[in-house]
Formats: sequence, structure tokens, C-alpha cells
Amino acid sequence: MNASEFSFKHLDAHTHTHFPAYDADRDVVIERARSEGIGMIQIGSSLKTSKDAVVLAEKNSDCMWACVGLHPIHTGDSFHDENEGVEESETFDVEEFERIAANKKVVGIGECGLDYFHLKNEEDKIVQKEVFIRHISLAHKLKKPLMIHCRDAYGDLIQILQSKKHLLNSRPGVIHFFCGTTDGARELLNLGFYFTFGGAITYPMRKGGTDYEEVIKMIPIEKIFCETDAPYVAPVPYRGKRNEPIYVLEVEKKIAEIKGVSQEGVASQVLKNAKEVFGI
Ligand SMILES: [Zn+2]
Repeated sequence: MNASEFSFKHLDAHTHTHFPAYDADRDVVIERARSEGIGMIQIGSSLKTSKDAVVLAEKNSDCMWACVGLHPIHTGDSFHDENEGVEESETFDVEEFERIAANKKVVGIGECGLDYFHLKNEEDKIVQKEVFIRHISLAHKLKKPLMIHCRDAYGDLIQILQSKKHLLNSRPGVIHFFCGTTDGARELLNLGFYFTFGGAITYPMRKGGTDYEEVIKMIPIEKIFCETDAPYVAPVPYRGKRNEPIYVLEVEKKIAEIKGVSQEGVASQVLKNAKEVFGI
């Protein structure tokens, strides 16, 4: 790894460079981002990938942090992806997650939340909700922000967050890959949440999909982060390829365009937001 000093200019707030998708060239991918001043938060999705995220963040300590949690798709009848390397669903081992969250590189709890898009059995909704609430309690106990994943479940998500309002920290966390409506975003803003956007905002609007322009115009820049969610959802002009942290620059560009501000303006505001939410 390059010994030059890291200068923090941008943030990829949600990435998975610890996944097997990078086994062949991980150090190269990381150095590409690092040399552009891109800090990275590695997000766990199971106990194993959470541990891997922490190990990688420790190894690249100047430019990297981690979040630990159990993704909703791994709580019930699990959904698997070879790029992720999680092969089985698991029960949420709160003690073990609490133990790894004690590492100083861990700046958040997640990704956790609800995912009805990949749902195989209706009963799994109950498990997802239960596990999500346990993450909310853990984040409260450890005074760390939540890194929330939500797909096709914003109604239930908002309902749970409102009913657990007493367990939310003053900066409760970040809704990753937000793909709901402006009304949903408004309710989450009222609860104090921040939002992170990725490659999907650079795609042409899908019929019946989220109007990112409208949503991003409505959310104050003081509440916005940029992410890649790499290896998934690469932004234009890399759409369809394996994503990687350096492409967060394309997401910044798009947010700057929608907000009518400079890319540098977006990048520096994101760093202020990161200090507030993650303390980095
Ligand atoms: Zn993710």
C-alpha cells in the first residue's frame, strides 16, 4: 500500500470492498480510491462480512471505517449472491455483534432494516421486523448511528422507527440507497435521519420508480451522503460493470447537478455530515 499521507476529500458512505467480488484485486481497488482522497465505510451484512469489514478497516486505518449488522435478507429464508459470499441465513447474535462493535473502527450499526423485495415467505416479515428492532436497541445502547437498508417496505419501516422513537439517538442514522417517495423522506427527516444516494440516481427514471430529482431537491444537503454500494449498482458511465469506491465521484457529480451547486461543495458538505453522524 502507498505510504503517502491520506487526505480526506470525499466519502463513500456505504461500500462492500471486503466482499469476495474484490478477492483478486482488493488492494488495487482501495488504492485507486484512497489516492483520490476517498474515505470508505465498509458495511457488514452478516456476522462474517461484518468481521471482514472491521479487519479491512483496521488494515486501511487512515481511510476506512466499518459498520456491523445483519442484513434483512439474511434473517429468514436467505437471499444469496456470490459476490457477497454469505451462504446461509443466521439468527442475530447480539452479543457477538456488540463485541465486534467495540472496535474503534466501527462507526455504525447495520446494514439492518427491512427488505420485502427479496422476500420468499410472508412470515419472514416478522423475523425481519424483530431483528431490525434488536439493531435499533443495540445502536441506542452503543450510541452509534444506524445504517438502514429498506426495499419495498418504507411504510413498515417508518412505523417501526416512530414506535421506537425513544430508542433513537439524536442523530439516529442514515437511510442507505433511499428509494422511497418525498413524503416518506419527509417523515424520516422528521425523525432526524440522513440519507445516502448511489448509482441509481444517475439512471434514467424508472416507470413507477423513485423520482430522485424531486427527492434530492427536497432533502437539505446537510442531510445527504454519497455512496457506491459497491460491488452493486455502478453509476453511469460504468453501469453494468462491477462498482468500486472511486465511482462515488459520479454520484457526487449528479447530486451537485440536481442541487445546482459545485461538486466540491457537495464533497465538503458530506464530510461535515460524516463528522456529525459518524464522528470521522
Ligand atoms: Zn449495501
